[in-house]
Amino acid sequence: MNKVCAIILAGGRGSRMGANVSKQFIEIKGKPMLYYTIKAFETSQEIQDIILVLPKDEIEFCKKEIIDKFNLKIGKIVEGGTERQYSVYNGLKAIENCDIVLIHDGARPFITQDILKNSIIYAKQYGAAAPGVMPKDTIKVKDRNGFSIDTPNRNDLVAVQTPQSFNFNTIMNGHEYIKENNISVTDDTMVAEIIGQKVFLYEGDYKNIKITTPEDLILAEQFIL
Ligand code: C5P
Repeated sequence: MNKVCAIILAGGRGSRMGANVSKQFIEIKGKPMLYYTIKAFETSQEIQDIILVLPKDEIEFCKKEIIDKFNLKIGKIVEGGTERQYSVYNGLKAIENCDIVLIHDGARPFITQDILKNSIIYAKQYGAAAPGVMPKDTIKVKDRNGFSIDTPNRNDLVAVQTPQSFNFNTIMNGHEYIKENNISVTDDTMVAEIIGQKVFLYEGDYKNIKITTPEDLILAEQFIL
């Protein structure tokens, strides 16, 4: 049987939130955002190990105020890096004997069990997969002076979400490659593309938002039943 692991990324501070605590600890209906994210992964029967990535100086706080307090089961906690891609790489290095790895933003607490199931099925089938939704707005390409130069067909566009799931060796090789070649990426599907691995895109969920700015919290409160 394939061993499935997950990396939950909470190694950033979320400065766009403008709050005085890191955004992963902001409460939604009385519980920290990160609690909901970890709980969803813990609930999945198919995920055998969870690696949590945190800023070094928040590890103790998180252990006490989230992991122990809510009795969550985490395999390992590792230190984040200065950029998301370094946090992912630290997470990957901490994993032993894994076939499929799911890489998820800790700031997406509304991840569903359906998406988690599909992420595993499609990573096994295609080697790399990610959920996404069609953008609700028309997306423009602009020039350096701020003028619109192109309007891609919305039917061809996908706003990609996480978890992004991969054959472990493939994504590990990809991260080693971008590190050696000093390439910057904004997500892990980009890493796969760079090494020539096709990424299967399947239906995500409009509720699987990444909590980024204060308005997102208003929505988040409504999403918790
Ligand atoms: O900043 P942004 O919301 O795009 O980050 C996406 C996810 O990546 C968040 O869950 C954040 O905690 C994580 N991250 C990280 N290490 C960083 C930057 C971001 O783990 N250095």
